[in-house]
Amino acid sequence: MAKVILINEIRGDSSTFDEEVELRSEPGADAPVSMERARIEGAIVRETGKWILAAKVAGDVRLDCSRCAEPYDWQLESPIRLEIRSSGPDTREGESELREDEIWHYHAREGKVDLAEVARERVLLDLPLKPLCRDDCRGLCPTCGGNRNLIECDCRSEAVDPRLAPLMEIRKQIDES
Ligand SMILES: [Zn+2]
Ligand SMILES: [Zn+2]
Repeated sequence: MAKVILINEIRGDSSTFDEEVELRSEPGADAPVSMERARIEGAIVRETGKWILAAKVAGDVRLDCSRCAEPYDWQLESPIRLEIRSSGPDTREGESELREDEIWHYHAREGKVDLAEVARERVLLDLPLKPLCRDDCRGLCPTCGGNRNLIECDCRSEAVDPRLAPLMEIRKQIDES
């Protein structure tokens, strides 16, 4: 169920929320990862005539390691601060943009703030460019394709850059000593 706040129906100067939202994108959306659920907790507050959404998004995202291709869970906890702009029905839903003043604007189509959309955008912005299952992930062997976190293969000494060969020779001697 979509968790939507209608700006026009906020009583007083603020509306708090604490919701579990589904992050899974609609089919066809270009989500680089399979996302699970997130929690979005915060408030929409009126500040000097504007509506500001201030919240925290927390959750687990399933990512594929960029070195060994194994899936792993990445934990996210990020603050968000958005200025809400009411927009006409022609605006793409949930569209937001970063302006020169570095305040994010959320275009609330017909005054609707979709909390799942807000959380999803935050998650997408925070995704690591090079996800790693762990800092010292050893990746896949370029020769045999084996996951070097799990198996020791014997391909190591092959396909060495000739310029590095003397170094590899020294390393081999160290390893063997
Ligand atoms: Zn890895
Ligand atoms: Zn190998």
